[in-house]
Amino acid sequence: MSATFPITVESSVCGTQPAWARVTQEPSLERRSALLALCRERLARENAVLVAHYYVHPDLQDLALDTGGCVSDSLEMARFGRDHPARTLVVAGVRFMGETAKMLSMDKRVLMPELDATCSLDIGCPAEAFTAWCDAHPDRTAVVYANTSAAVKARADWVVTSSCAVDIVRHLNARGEKILWAPDRHLGSYIQRETGADMLLWQGSCIVHDEFKALELELLKREHPEAKVLVHPESPASVIALADAVGSTSQILQAAREMPASTYIVATDNGMFHALRQQNPGKLFLEAPTAGNSATCKSCAHCPWMAMNGLEGLAHTLQTGSGEIFLDADLAAHARRSVARMLDFTAAQKRAMSAPGALVPGLGAA
Ligand code: SF4
Repeated sequence: MSATFPITVESSVCGTQPAWARVTQEPSLERRSALLALCRERLARENAVLVAHYYVHPDLQDLALDTGGCVSDSLEMARFGRDHPARTLVVAGVRFMGETAKMLSMDKRVLMPELDATCSLDIGCPAEAFTAWCDAHPDRTAVVYANTSAAVKARADWVVTSSCAVDIVRHLNARGEKILWAPDRHLGSYIQRETGADMLLWQGSCIVHDEFKALELELLKREHPEAKVLVHPESPASVIALADAVGSTSQILQAAREMPASTYIVATDNGMFHALRQQNPGKLFLEAPTAGNSATCKSCAHCPWMAMNGLEGLAHTLQTGSGEIFLDADLAAHARRSVARMLDFTAAQKRAMSAPGALVPGLGAA
């Protein structure tokens, strides 16, 4: 059974205007070189490591890799930050990523180039409304996407990312647990279809992935019949139905590396194309359409909040120590418990997969 939870108009509204107004300008070539040199020097001097998401500017992704940091999805960002010995983590992404890094590393300083970089899923799931929803369904296990505030994570039983959500809900369903899912309705409905779990769905959405259009995608497929379609599960079901592979950012990258096709149509934030092209020279990547024939722009798939991260902001943060994340210790402890369940689950799953035939408690056969 699946059902939905109608959230109020107020709680689902998210204004992007302030974010667009603060998208960084491209620096001149000279300024860019100077900023890169400054950031490298400051990262070393501050014993800091840069942890970047695949959706941020290519300059930040390259700098992270060149200086011993990482570029990854939100699950790996959380793990990397927790396990790295640096005393300062600089998180280039959106607010919930910095908060997750902080709750896993309360003894470290966590800085973000842009503290106002948020997420429509986080905005659309306020902690008070989510808590009331949980209180109204005490018989259900609350599973939330990582794209939520620390307060929502603290109220949830489990936190998941798109790379492990299906496996974790399948695991809970096998234990007979009924699920409350928040906040992304498309990802929730995809998980429900994949697992058959009994789920009530919050009605949030990602303003980027929600825009992909199935009809336009079909037309593009006709123009490129040889192309494989890679889709992030925050996209509408009609778009997912056209996919050759569905997965998180890291799973999309893996599919592009492993599939033999030479052309791919990709339905996720276009920040991903940097890593896709770097890792697959010779393969062609096309953006899935977010608009119809009459539109002047065929794809505007870029998160305005991810786009707020730039070299100027990073340099400023490293020079001044601005953009620090602070979390209440009690709140962080509660939120950490839900995140730790996910990290423990995925670590056990990894161990199980590297030991063929082994049985993992609660997971079944590897
Ligand atoms: S791309 Fe969507 S899910 Fe990701 S941070 Fe932006 S609004 Fe949130």
